[in-house]
This record gives sequence, structure tokens and C-alpha cells, in this order.
Amino acid sequence: MKRKASASCLKFLILFSVFSLIFAACLRTEKQYDLIIRNGLVVDGSGNPWFRADLAIKNKKIAAIRDHLDQAKAKTVIEAEGLVVAPGFIDIHTHADRDLLTIPGCENYISQGVTTLIGGNCGGHEFPLAEFLAKVEKNGIACNFGILAGHNTIRREVMGMKMDPPDPEEMARMKQLLRKELLAGALGLSTGLAYLPGTYSTTEELVELASVVGELGGFYASHIRNQGKKITEAIEEAIAVGEKNRIPVVISHIKLADEDVWNEIERITSPVEAARARGVEVVMDQYPYTATSSGFTSSLPQDVFEGGREKFLQRLQDPEIYERVRQTIIRNRLTSRRGIDKLETIYIARSRKFPAYEGKNLKEILALLGKPATVENGADLIIDLVKEGDVSAIFFQMDERDVENLMKLPFVMIGSDGGLQVPGQGIPHPRSYGTFTRVLGHYVREKGIISLEEAVRKMTSLPAQTMRLKNRGMIKEGYYADITIFNPAEVKDLATFHEPHRYSAGIACVLVNGEVVLEKGLFTGRRPGSVLRGQASEKKF
Ligand SMILES: [Zn+2]
Repeated sequence: MKRKASASCLKFLILFSVFSLIFAACLRTEKQYDLIIRNGLVVDGSGNPWFRADLAIKNKKIAAIRDHLDQAKAKTVIEAEGLVVAPGFIDIHTHADRDLLTIPGCENYISQGVTTLIGGNCGGHEFPLAEFLAKVEKNGIACNFGILAGHNTIRREVMGMKMDPPDPEEMARMKQLLRKELLAGALGLSTGLAYLPGTYSTTEELVELASVVGELGGFYASHIRNQGKKITEAIEEAIAVGEKNRIPVVISHIKLADEDVWNEIERITSPVEAARARGVEVVMDQYPYTATSSGFTSSLPQDVFEGGREKFLQRLQDPEIYERVRQTIIRNRLTSRRGIDKLETIYIARSRKFPAYEGKNLKEILALLGKPATVENGADLIIDLVKEGDVSAIFFQMDERDVENLMKLPFVMIGSDGGLQVPGQGIPHPRSYGTFTRVLGHYVREKGIISLEEAVRKMTSLPAQTMRLKNRGMIKEGYYADITIFNPAEVKDLATFHEPHRYSAGIACVLVNGEVVLEKGLFTGRRPGSVLRGQASEKKF
């Protein structure tokens, strides 16, 4: 009897301990998560069709993806019934670095679902990077942020506005500076070959400079030399830089920006597909609009800028040079073979000197000045604006069919080419507010150009893969919880060329590193963003 009693007592004790352990484990899992997103349609960034799941987030990362997490508890629960749960969008092509310290809330990007911004594009970056990135980290940012080192910045630093190719000593110094920027965290090298002083460089110079990226790791992003009749050669130049150094190539803001080559997309696809076929990693990014935005300097003969601004102003005093500048602008910017009135298609986005011009086209400005709308007067007006410096404009110079056909290419990503904006300041290109929501609303839902899953892939895993970002760009366990939740039936850009300062509709919630930065149309003011450094920075130690 005694033995029996102690045996059942022992059994009871064992059972009791097992149950207690299970109970304690349950309690622990119940309190395990920081945030849960329930019932969403997960578009995971891979391009696969959506699936229904619950997501749990802990310590900045996606901790669990399950059919149901009904038993689990978290401090915050987001109900996402009927909504798409996607990786936060990664904008591989921005100029956000220029204003990141003054606009750390990144509102015009968060409001379209963007959680990672890449700056330093088109050849220009905040120099020197180590200092800049330290300031960004100290200040805090709402989005994640990564940056490229710009060739124009580095060349200007070493050679000023010299037109000649670099001598061996200058080349060595440029390489040394690039190395320093890569070690400080740059993700690669960018060029702006339509801008100064990039226009003065040769392919050989770029190939040699980019060898530093080949050695330390990173990618090459290029605003190519020509986006019109010579676009094929310009793309081939970018490919050569990548191919010779075995680094990925991104052709920035791809477009056919000259009416003479509209609808000739093979000028782009032929060189890119041939390069990909021989194993060169070439991808592109694109913004979903038919208008570009930049300054005017690329429309002028480039030699007039040699030596800097003072010399440029002096040269314009010479009537012969002035006339040559005028005729070049007329030829490059104001002549149309399709009968398009160019004066009507160029708008001033921002001019510190002439704020009254902002939002008006050249024809309207000439009327304001009481001058006839001739191309000669248009060219004179452009010269006056360039003389004052610090002017940006909007040019309607693309064809809608090309925008759509480029979007269908599997190796084209979405990138805004925009910057951080202060609401109400200037009349900037609406791409800074509406790029990602415009693709989802207009091109996916309204026009059916690409599927929702394909659009999300172009905004997330493809840029993450190109930049070798670790654990970002997909909805996957162990990945950072950069997440955008949106209503696929309502998502839409509202920013227009006349009213660009308008946030998008349909973005329900945005998380950066697991923290909510936008919810029900309100910015939370949090700054959970991280600085994302490139592969080279890991080699420092
Ligand atoms: Zn550019």
C-alpha cells in the first residue's frame, strides 16, 4: 500500500511539474510580442501571390508569421482585415540626404509607404560622409537611410571645375577619397554625367575610380550621359564601368527623354539584356511620371562653366559666347519636331531669386514680363535663371507608353528621384509625394500594367537585393519589421504638378524597425530609422 501511495504521489508530482512548465511557457509566449498585425493579406515582396497571415513583431524584427496568432498577446495589435501587409518600400533613388538633418520626419516619404531612403544619387553627396552620418544618427530619423558616394562631389573636391582628365596624382586622390567614403558607410558610387563636373569625365576615369568599389564592395548607380538619341551608348558606358569592375550597375531614372526616340524602347533593352546575358548584373529604376525635374545647366554648352561660376558670368559678357549659349539652349530644350510648344511644357519648380515664377511655365513667365513667347526670349529667360543659380524646373518630355513599357520590365525598380519636402515650399515635382502610391493606384489598380505583387517586388526585394541589404525588403521571419499596410482598393497618389504638397490616400499604417511612424493618417513623430552602411564599412576592423 505504502509503495503504491508513494508511486501515485510521484506520478502526480511529475504531472504537476509538466503542466506547470507548459503553463509557464504559455504565459511567456502570451507576453512575447511587441506588436501583432492580424488578418492581413501578406504580399511578401518576393513577387509571389498574397497569402493570409498574422504577423508578430519583437525587438524590431518579424518574430512569427502564422495562419493565426489568436492566443498570442502583444502591447499593440493592428487589425488589418482587407488590407495588404507589405514590406516597407525602399526608395533606391532619392536626394533625401540634402535635407535629412532639417526634415528628419521624412513625412513626404512615410506617407507613401516608404521606410528606407537611399541618397547620394546622380553624382552628389553630403561630404564627408563619416561626419554626416554621425550627425544623422545623433539627430535621429523616421526612415532608414543609406547613401552613395558621388563622383561629382569627389571630382570637385580634388579638381575643382577643371575640364581635363585627372592626372595620376589627382586620380590617386579621388580614389583615396572614395575609399574613405566607402569605409564610412557608402553603399557604392554614383555618377551624374549630365551634370558638372561629371560631364567633363571620360569612361576611363569612371572605370578606374569604380575599381575601388570593385575592391571594397558596393554598386554603381549612374545618371547616364544621355537619355535621348545617344541613350544606347550612354547605357553601354555604365555597363562598362560595372563589367570591368564586377559590380552591380543601376541605371538611374530610366526614360526616353527626347521625342525623337519615343517608343524606341529597344534602345534601352538591347544593351541591358545583352549585358545581363553575359552575366553583368544590370538593373534600373524609374519614377511613374512623364515629366522630369532638374536645373538648366545640362542644356547649355558645358565648356562655359569651366573654372567655376565667376568665369561663367564673365564669358556671358562676350556677345559671341552669349549667342552660342542661346542657340544651344534653343536646340537642346526649345525645339520640337513633333510640334510641341516647348515654352508651355517647362515649369519653374523653385527659384529663390524669382519666387513669383514658381509653378508657372516659360510662356506664362514671358507674358508676366510683357515679352512675346518666342524661343529666343525663352532662351534669354533660361540664361537669366541660370545666372542666378539655384533654380529647378519641371520638363514634360516623356511619352506615357514608354513609362508603361519600362515598368513591365522585370529588372526595373521604382525610385522617386525626389527629395524631402517642407509642405507648401515651392512647387516641386509631385514624385516626392506620390511615386509609390501612384504605381499602386494608377498603374496597378486602374490600368493593370503590372500586378500588385510585381509592383511590391520592384519597391522592396529587388532594391534590397541590388544593395545587398541584410534582412530587409521582404516579409520573412527574422527580417526587420519595416512594414507598410495599405488598402489596395483605395491607395492613390493625390499630389499633382499644380498641387504637389498633398499626401497620398490609402496608406493605413507604416512601421520602421517595428515602431509605428504613421497610423490612420497621423505621423507619430518617432524616429526609429537606422543608418544602413555598405559592405565596405565592415572591412574597417
Ligand atoms: Zn539624376
